[in-house]
Amino acid sequence: MTNRTHEEALKNPVFSTISDAAKELSLDSYVIGGFVRDHLLQRGTPKDIDIVAIGSGIELAKLVAKKLPGSSEVSVFKNFGTAMIKFQDIEIEFVGARKESYHRDSRKPVVENGSLEDDQKRRDFTINALAISLNSRDYGQLLDPFDGIGDLKRQLIRTPLDPDITYSDDPLRMMRAIRFATQLNFIIHPESLQAIADNKERIKIISNERIVDELHKILASAKPSLGFSLLHETGLLPFVMPELVALEGIEEIEGQRHKDNFWHTLEVVDNISQNTDNVWLRWAALLHDIGKAPTKKFDKKIGWTFHGHEFIGSKMVYKLFKRLRLPLNEKMKFVQKMVLMSSRPIVLSEDFVTDSAVRRLIFDAGEHVEDLMTLCEADITTKNPKKQKRYRNNFKIVRQKIEEVEERDHIRNFQPPISGEEIMKTFNLKPSKEIGMIKEAIKEAILDGEIPNEYKAAYTLMLRKGEEMGLEGN
Ligand code: ATP
Ligand code: MG
Repeated sequence: MTNRTHEEALKNPVFSTISDAAKELSLDSYVIGGFVRDHLLQRGTPKDIDIVAIGSGIELAKLVAKKLPGSSEVSVFKNFGTAMIKFQDIEIEFVGARKESYHRDSRKPVVENGSLEDDQKRRDFTINALAISLNSRDYGQLLDPFDGIGDLKRQLIRTPLDPDITYSDDPLRMMRAIRFATQLNFIIHPESLQAIADNKERIKIISNERIVDELHKILASAKPSLGFSLLHETGLLPFVMPELVALEGIEEIEGQRHKDNFWHTLEVVDNISQNTDNVWLRWAALLHDIGKAPTKKFDKKIGWTFHGHEFIGSKMVYKLFKRLRLPLNEKMKFVQKMVLMSSRPIVLSEDFVTDSAVRRLIFDAGEHVEDLMTLCEADITTKNPKKQKRYRNNFKIVRQKIEEVEERDHIRNFQPPISGEEIMKTFNLKPSKEIGMIKEAIKEAILDGEIPNEYKAAYTLMLRKGEEMGLEGN
């Protein structure tokens, strides 16, 4: 693998343009990092390309933009000595090769110009330090000073230099190591793993935005539990998400035990990841039980209880999102809603499923009712095959009922069949609380199945309610 050229990686016309531009500027250039790694792993077409120039990356970017029809303007980030152009949805980032040294209290290095090898040394992992030459004398040759190819084969995350220094210099790399291990299903080299554990406290100098970027990528992976177990094993998790750590452990009083809600949660996240790519639904799975730690109680008669954990959990979602600088928008509200409602279908499926209970579920979950069912199904982690089968079957029945009821009653995007204006007109009312009361009575009657979700029936009920309230009709 090492000896053959890698010209087939350079099919995109940008590479020959970059090569020509670099020649004109009399400097060497290489494609490096994720692009090369993902090409060798055959991970589909990469979204971004990193180019390192032995000289000015900014000058190279400018000339490439000039030579490349259809490319964007150059965005220059002077402080970082980098420049970026966009071409066919791909971001091409240019940087001059550099040598870095770090101070203890910051992840901002002192930077000097350097050789390709200097630049490869400052990369986080051997598999991210692979470079392919764009120079005419050895176009397509792979430059791999740290046996990144070997590590790709061994499926190993390893740092080019002493891991203890690598992670201490830039502690974000600890999160990146765990993220790449999760995304690629690779092992972290034992010395690296130890170095992460030793440097875990250094994560404090990393901004929450950066940490969340990595958490997102872990959650978006095929098996997110890999990443969360590594965060747990290295001791990073208490710094990142203490709410999850609080779920760990099994307590026993008078022979009664509860399940370990941390490991249960990880199973739920893996389960849901087989059925949805919606990363917010995956967040909901990750957080669905966080209210269990603060609500846990032991009752002599009924054993362990977690009363109200869904409500407390949904409040904790807000705090956690705020702390981690996650968006406090409709995404957060969605996660809160999923956590708040996470037990509803379960309660429903344990009993005989009535239409009105299903209508209320659809009404409360609205457009997210399928997501809620997906969450509840992922929540089944019992190892008892009989129970497993029963639960699955019950949810199947609930799903069928949801479909039936929805088809008939159209509750999902519930619109009141009688508007406030019509009520005002009918009873000669100004805006007042009576209108709300009548609307509420109509809605309740529909959800309870007393009347169908139809105009005529609702109109009749409105007149009756008005009469009961002593209102005069028009
Ligand atoms: P992906 O884009 O799939 O997340 P990537 O490897 O391209 O993976 P980027 O964050 O785009 O990752 O970074 C591009 C390259 O820059 C990496 O391959 C690596 O060589 C280098 N790099 C990025 N972040 C760091 C870091 N914190 N320390 C050292 N090198 C880094
Ligand atoms: Mg990248």
